[in-house]
Amino acid sequence: MLIAPFLLAQTPVQSFEFRGQQFYLKRDDLLHPQFSGNKARKFRYFLDQDFSEVRLLIGHGSAQANSLYSMAALAALKGWQLKFYVDHLPQWLQQTPSGNYKAALALGAEIVPVAAKELYGLTVGEYLRESILPTLSAALFVPEGGRCQAAEYGVRQLAQEIHDWAVGENITGLKLFLPSGTGTTALYLSKYFYDNKINIEVITCAVVGGDNYLRQQFATLCPDDRCHPRIISSPKKYHFGKLYPEFYQIWQQLAQAGVMFELLYDPLAWLLMLNYKQQHPQQPIMYIHQGGLLGNESMLPRYMRKFDKK
Ligand SMILES: *Cc1c(COP(=O)(O)O)cnc(C)c1O
Repeated sequence: MLIAPFLLAQTPVQSFEFRGQQFYLKRDDLLHPQFSGNKARKFRYFLDQDFSEVRLLIGHGSAQANSLYSMAALAALKGWQLKFYVDHLPQWLQQTPSGNYKAALALGAEIVPVAAKELYGLTVGEYLRESILPTLSAALFVPEGGRCQAAEYGVRQLAQEIHDWAVGENITGLKLFLPSGTGTTALYLSKYFYDNKINIEVITCAVVGGDNYLRQQFATLCPDDRCHPRIISSPKKYHFGKLYPEFYQIWQQLAQAGVMFELLYDPLAWLLMLNYKQQHPQQPIMYIHQGGLLGNESMLPRYMRKFDKK
């Protein structure tokens, strides 16, 4: 069997002490062994709805993206073929597959390099929309990183779980932290709490673009800025996917404290959240563990080569 059956309807919340401060962790990484975390929430709509006419799932992004693996798992769960378009497939990755790429291949994904930028001066998304999608039938297209309205459905379930938990624990004024890429998850969480007049504030940080990029993302998904999450800015500028000693250090300390996080998004969010907690020690904080651990298979060796050499 390629794919495990669905186990968890909900994910657990755990109390977690770190550097003398208390946090709650929403363990969304435990949703399903292969279909977990943030992308599973964003793609949940496609899992639950019928789509019986669909045979082919089309995605695009980086060959190492968490969304590649999650889409491969989605396709396997639904009995679809996945075609995932990448601009460029690094040779070393083809020769020694690892992480999300390797796991997606094992689930039967087809990864198609198109060199759209080089050949046509287009992004892969533009190329797909112009040249590939119109030629396909029985295909379902998911934009890069799951940045689409369909994501609201699954993220709303996550928001409901968190709200139910807070009510059960009698916690008011919860601050909910998570790092953002496209900002889709943070936005739909925040929108749910705003729409339902629930006193939970979503606080996020821009990991992929800058704060302005993230604000634009929020505005495309929801023009009313009252439903936007709060963005806390990083005093230092970080580039997505680059290696930083302070990221590695906090990741190691978190692992020593008992929880394995991923290395692209989580370290910056933890640094900013710790700083926030120091300034607001009384506020209850929940951090969402959004999965993505397979990516560590390629990130961790890079970190070890760079910072562990003696
Ligand atoms: C994709 C991803 C994010 C970013 O999610 P957005 O909804 O695009 O903001 C954060 N953390 C992990 C682990 C992810 O896989």
